Amino acid sequence: MVAEVIINTSVKDLNKIFDYNIPNDLEDKVQIGSRVLVGFGHKKTLEEGFVVGIKEKSEYKIKDISKVEETQYLNSSSIQLAEWMAYNCFCNVSDCIKLMLPPGTTTKIVDNRVKEKSGRFVSLNKTIEEIDELIANKKIKSEKHIRILKFLENNNECYLQDLISLTDTSIAIVKTLQKNEYIQINEKEIERNPLQNKNVLKTNNLEFTPEQKKAYETISNSIDDYMNSEFLLYGITGSGKTEIYLQLIEKVLELGKTSIMLVPEISLTPQTVERFISRFGEEQIAVLHSKLSQGERYDQWQKIKRGQAKIVIGARSAIFAPVENLGIIIIDEEHDNSYKSETTPRYNAKQIARYLCKNFDIPLVLGSATPDMDTFYKALSGDIELLKLTKRANNSSLPNVQIVDLRQELANGNRSMISRNLYEAIEENVQNKKQTILFLNRRGYSTFVMCRDCGYTAKCKNCNITLTYHSKGNKLKCHYCGYEQNFITSCPDCKSNNVRYFGTGTQKLEAEINKMFPQASTIRMDVDTVSKKNSHENILNKFKNENIDILIGTQMVVKGHHFPNVTLVGVIAADSSLNIEDFRAAERTFQILTQVAGRAGREEEQGNVIIQTYNPDAYSIEYAKQQDYDKFYDTEILLRKQLKYPPFCDIIQIGFSAENEQDVISTCKKMHEFIKQKIKQENVPIILYNPVPSPIDKIKNRIRWRMIIKCKFGNNIIELINEALKQIKTNEKVRVIVELNPTNML
Ligand code: ADP
Ligand code: ZN
Ligand code: ZN
Repeated sequence: MVAEVIINTSVKDLNKIFDYNIPNDLEDKVQIGSRVLVGFGHKKTLEEGFVVGIKEKSEYKIKDISKVEETQYLNSSSIQLAEWMAYNCFCNVSDCIKLMLPPGTTTKIVDNRVKEKSGRFVSLNKTIEEIDELIANKKIKSEKHIRILKFLENNNECYLQDLISLTDTSIAIVKTLQKNEYIQINEKEIERNPLQNKNVLKTNNLEFTPEQKKAYETISNSIDDYMNSEFLLYGITGSGKTEIYLQLIEKVLELGKTSIMLVPEISLTPQTVERFISRFGEEQIAVLHSKLSQGERYDQWQKIKRGQAKIVIGARSAIFAPVENLGIIIIDEEHDNSYKSETTPRYNAKQIARYLCKNFDIPLVLGSATPDMDTFYKALSGDIELLKLTKRANNSSLPNVQIVDLRQELANGNRSMISRNLYEAIEENVQNKKQTILFLNRRGYSTFVMCRDCGYTAKCKNCNITLTYHSKGNKLKCHYCGYEQNFITSCPDCKSNNVRYFGTGTQKLEAEINKMFPQASTIRMDVDTVSKKNSHENILNKFKNENIDILIGTQMVVKGHHFPNVTLVGVIAADSSLNIEDFRAAERTFQILTQVAGRAGREEEQGNVIIQTYNPDAYSIEYAKQQDYDKFYDTEILLRKQLKYPPFCDIIQIGFSAENEQDVISTCKKMHEFIKQKIKQENVPIILYNPVPSPIDKIKNRIRWRMIIKCKFGNNIIELINEALKQIKTNEKVRVIVELNPTNML
């Protein structure tokens, strides 16, 4: 027999399938989905590959498969999904397959390790910089040594057995590193279960309100009828959507089936997870997200694979969890950006969920208080069934929202970041021992540095992006490539000393608040304070348990938490998301303001929200104040129609990058020409724009160009683009990335 194999490499054009002979002794082991090692090209080492098909014979002279992995992780439906994805997301099949494999790296993964009470843990004995320097200076050369050290750089600490299997090395190699004092091994208690030690009280089903009951029954009926229906559960925060998810999952469990529930990465907090554990117990729940260690993720993955966890809760990539017998997929906060992957493969979890639900004839439930424009459009036109929850389930009232015009504030001589109204509200809250959240849509201390005399701004050498000032260590940093330099006090161009730091960040806000309210305690949460594992959770717990007066933060404070004692939310500048170069700016602003307002007064207490803005008349801000999604939608949809934006038309961005500008331009032109000819010949209704340099025209020393297409995305366009990608036989040095309705247009 002959196996059709896809080689696992990111090298371009390797979506191609190669034939390999299956030796007799491997005949019953090699199946579709098997991971194999094969000789490839003139390489001496064996390459990893995946079997995507099996047939009688090949027309070529072919090599034997050298080795096959004992445990089979994939089956033919996973391969089918990977192939479908590669075609629809314009990437390699092997990149898609990787999303479905157990976390960790290569072969030799040990199954069903014994759970022990304590174990030996390995960690670095030097700083990351020291290790990197040793590697750079060739003091450490062995590939396996480097693999272990790099792994530890990314994972802090690792259980010895895991380290060996995940890096495909041996105890002897680890010991050598220990002898050289690069790493240390310590005996410690094992805590592999992220859900462990959560003593949660069991909760019971709540009795539904009439609206909840109706929504539940509609979805429940479609489960009974094996229907592939899609629902939008549209309800304000606190309207009881989660209670509906819980009871749907219960029903699916009773049928012996599995549920996948996706939540945005950022709101995958212990609070969210606890609600599920307290209903169903920890045994049958698996949680998947990026904050888990490699070992933890591996264990969760196995718990699903074994069929023990029948409820999977996770961020975007949990859609690829190895479930059997799927019964429902729920996507909470379906409008959230994090469902779209911004690295290859550039898939959207919603798109994958639709594929799976169709294949298994099961319902897809999307939930949101501020649905994506596209989803709501489909719901109104009947493609998705609309289920509305209009009231808060526990009868708490919606917060009062007040808008403050910052232009007026400035005219009255107030130059601080805090308006008079907000100042008074904070003061009153602090006095009454109530908590406050201040929300800022930025990070860092100050966004950028500019010379007031000549207009010079400090930019990254590699990326052509403005550098951001960080007061910790007095550095200017590039958020794209990590480049940093010391901050400047005089202009390198004109030598003027009139250099100013513009913009405001969380650090500066915290400093200002501490000055204004010396008696109040504050805590800050942003990307800089939340870098270590768990510190997100620690900050929130600290804020809640120690009753800290004021929480200052970025986007992270917005999602899904429940703080009973928070009665005031202040938005420092609502405009920052309004001024971005993106057709979704208004939608984003509306969503974020509505969500942030939902943090105030979730229980008996009346909540107050104060939104500071320079654009009080912007409709996104006005309707956020009224918390009226329907009105916002009606206004926004007209503009989208006029300007031919989604949902009326899709935007496809084809990005090209390479170190050499000529390479980029010639590939761009070739692709443009090809598509232009096709459009002419076949009369395809699309608008093709000329290739131009991207708004950020250089990142990590690669020159970037892009080409934009506006059209209705569908099978004919997918085919056209795939054909174009194949035809242009791109220069190896040029990276081409195709993205549908990109979240980031820079
Ligand atoms: P959402 O997910 O829409 O934000 P939740 O399901 O979290 O809403 O419900 C908000 C609050 O109302 C929670 O404290 C929840 O326990 C409570 N709740 C939900 N449904 C009911 C119900 N039918 N009866 C009483 N309280 C409810
Ligand atoms: Zn200058
Ligand atoms: Zn950079």
